[in-house]
Amino acid sequence: MRLGALLLCILFPFSSMADSAWPGGIAFLDLGAADGPAPVVEFDGKRVLVLNQGGQWRAVVGIPLSAETGRASISFPSGITMSFDVVEHAYAVEHLQVAQSYVSLSDEDLARYQRERKVIDAALNNWRDIPVDSVSLASPVEGPRSSSFGKRRFFNNEPRSPHSGMDIAAPEGTPVSAPLAGIVSETGDYYFNGNTIFIDHGQGLISMYCHLSEIGVETGQPITAGEPIGRVGKTGRVTGAHLHFGTYLNGTAVDPALLLDGSQ
Ligand SMILES: [Zn+2]
Repeated sequence: MRLGALLLCILFPFSSMADSAWPGGIAFLDLGAADGPAPVVEFDGKRVLVLNQGGQWRAVVGIPLSAETGRASISFPSGITMSFDVVEHAYAVEHLQVAQSYVSLSDEDLARYQRERKVIDAALNNWRDIPVDSVSLASPVEGPRSSSFGKRRFFNNEPRSPHSGMDIAAPEGTPVSAPLAGIVSETGDYYFNGNTIFIDHGQGLISMYCHLSEIGVETGQPITAGEPIGRVGKTGRVTGAHLHFGTYLNGTAVDPALLLDGSQ
């Protein structure tokens, strides 16, 4: 270890913990002793979640899958910035076959998708200013992870957006439970995502559950950790029954595997 790195570790003993600062990953940045109000932090013009962990403020920054590698920075209202490195991360490629109506959208379906996109984006960008003491999530359903986050995908051989969540295979009807307490911020039946629930866990940490056969909660409903919220299904653009589990920080999709218990 070089002397500079050693000194940094002494000054910021938590700064290197479980770092996953790559596109689609999370940068955990130490902001010093939590002996005053929580610092206001922004990344790319969006508020960032700040935890009080062991008496230290810690920023939990979602890095977009589309982010360039290299230097990035968070900013404070004073204009001061703190930089960190976004490192490279390799994601696999995946080919999937679905009904052609999910690849070449009719005018009507495209209009529907565009209307829904606004509702979904609003749910994913919601900021609820409450203290958050943990971003550790329990698995919403048990089962094999049939497709991992970040894969570059081809549907019927046509390139589409990379996979923005984790797919967990489970039989239709399997109960899905909330991985952390929160409030149901939106539910709906969407063209690609099928029956979907959004849970707002505070400070921009949002989780999303797609392709459900059944939605068991209502918008505005408070949810405790472990509470059943719906059932696994195959609604929307799917190749079979599974849960698409999405997690978002500062409005950007991050790999749920980085937030599941024991990962951070
Ligand atoms: Zn998925």
